[in-house]
Amino acid sequence: MKVKILTIFPELFPGFLGSSLTGKALKEGKWSLDVVNIRDYAFDKHGSVDDTPCGGGAGMVMRPDVLGEAIKANHQSGERIIYMSPRGKVFNQEMAKELSLEKNLTIICGRFEGIDQRIIDAYEIEEVSIGDYVLTGGEQAAQILLDASVRLIEGVLGNSESVEDESFENGLLEHPQYTRPIDWEKKSVPEILLSGHHKKIKEWRLQQSLEITKQKRPDLYKKYLDLQKV
Ligand code: SAM
Repeated sequence: MKVKILTIFPELFPGFLGSSLTGKALKEGKWSLDVVNIRDYAFDKHGSVDDTPCGGGAGMVMRPDVLGEAIKANHQSGERIIYMSPRGKVFNQEMAKELSLEKNLTIICGRFEGIDQRIIDAYEIEEVSIGDYVLTGGEQAAQILLDASVRLIEGVLGNSESVEDESFENGLLEHPQYTRPIDWEKKSVPEILLSGHHKKIKEWRLQQSLEITKQKRPDLYKKYLDLQKV
């Protein structure tokens, strides 16, 4: 996956994507990151990228002419292009899987009050949100989206780190996890996990997943039950 990031804070990349699994995969060339400074496309010596909102109001808006030049110089038509935006479709595991299969991906990180609407319309840009709250910039959001997507690229996770049992894989939250020591501060690991009985352990884990999802995410639980009926 070749990722292009359009930002006015290029120094924020790779950020946490440069560590751990995503960092190792980046070094190994399993994905690449090309960070474009939008200010390089500004028309004045100050590198101005924003202006006041038409119609008045607080803050500044990212100019379409400058951002447009950055897009034209770095993005090929037909490739997927995303603008990180609180107004977008809310990112989830399903979208992470879909993105992990993309060969090319351009991500625009907004700042200030966001980007001029004409850019979104002209390039048919997909707006993606990472949740119902407002961040100061799209860089943090882009890194979260990439972290979740890159770890799903084939070969990034080792065999021992299968995604199969993870939260959202079967529409449920993950069962509780335990490790050694078996006894800790008078609390023990559930006996079934020490039994070596794989079928029973699997059943117990599913039961726990169902219970946890029902309690913590009734919306997911309902969706899961509805899907079982189909
Ligand atoms: N005025 C915008 C609004 O009310 O929708 C918020 C702008 S925010 C201060 C600046 C930038 O942060 C946005 O352009 C976007 O790129 C990014 N951003 C903020 N919250 C986000 C979220 N929940 N998901 C994705 N990107 C977000």
